[in-house]
Amino acid sequence: MSEVLVLIDHVDGAVRKPTYELLTIAKRLGEPSAVFIGSGAQGAEVAEKVKAYGAEKVYVVDDAQIKGYLVAPKAEALQQLAEKASPAAILIPSTAEGKEIAGRLAIKIGSGLITDAVDVQEGPVTTQSVFAGNYTVQAKVTQGTPIITVKPNSAAPEESAGAGTVEEFAATVSDAAKGAQIVASQPRKATGRPELTEAAAVVAGGRGTAGNFEPIEGLADALGAAVGASRAAVDSGWIPHTFQIGQTGKTVSPQLYVAAGISGAIQHRAGMQTSKTIVAVNKDEEAPIFELVDFGVVGDLNSVLPAAAEEITKR
Ligand code: FAD
Repeated sequence: MSEVLVLIDHVDGAVRKPTYELLTIAKRLGEPSAVFIGSGAQGAEVAEKVKAYGAEKVYVVDDAQIKGYLVAPKAEALQQLAEKASPAAILIPSTAEGKEIAGRLAIKIGSGLITDAVDVQEGPVTTQSVFAGNYTVQAKVTQGTPIITVKPNSAAPEESAGAGTVEEFAATVSDAAKGAQIVASQPRKATGRPELTEAAAVVAGGRGTAGNFEPIEGLADALGAAVGASRAAVDSGWIPHTFQIGQTGKTVSPQLYVAAGISGAIQHRAGMQTSKTIVAVNKDEEAPIFELVDFGVVGDLNSVLPAAAEEITKR
């Protein structure tokens, strides 16, 4: 069976959930091999984690040369690995970094690239949600090794034992790839909530909050959810842009999306329409958001959300 390379998404060796989702998808396409670009010393520990999700092989590319630089060296390392392994496909998480790596890699190896897939089946044939979620498109790479970036929450991670054989891979990084260097990096202040794009549940607030995000945060904490926002809330200065969901913000696809005080403009929908279950709380029963919900509550978010949070916390 052909190898399918999966680029491990991690922060200092802490593997992020989209990696397990990609490994689950990779099993449909061939034999999953995970690629860890990070500290070589963490390779064995990372391999233990990914083998539980079916990784037969784990390539460890020690980042001594790569650390401190932006994405170009990672694309070079993947290029060299792809040339050696001739995989059936390469799956990369649809993060900002992942998409940049994928674009550079596609040019380097002369392959077709599909970004932001929400599903990948045998072929590989991808499914994407486009034009603000109004169309679903099936696509296929027709040239070279298919390179596909997959959105978080596109598959439920399935555990299955792989061999997890570690293979060190020494990549050569050109001077050109070291053309941009990180000069400082600070971790964001920890909120204790999951990261917005990979959260299984998201509670988002809009202009209807009138700037009071307490009910949003209260329900998010009761659900173990991430907090999101509409552009109106961001533009009003109530919450930073990193929380914005939509055409000019982040795209989320959680199991549960709660939109509170959000009207449901097309640009907002573009970022949340592929959520599995959508709930809206809005005091206007004519609000367009109700057209796409699974459950709708006509009411004031300031009373509905705390009541829901209280009930959930009791259970
Ligand atoms: P509104 O449309 O003002 O809706 C507020 C809602 O809150 C109303 O439905 C109201 O009934 C309800 N409400 C009020 N008080 C309460 C209460 N107490 N309890 C319950 N409900 C209440 N928008 C995005 O979100 N993301 C984007 O990425 C984005 N990108 C854009 C890009 C472009 C190029 C353009 C032109 C626009 C973009 N927008 C984006 C803006 C978008 O068009 C809308 O203006 C925006 O989404 C509206 O935000 P909102 O729903 O919070 O506010």
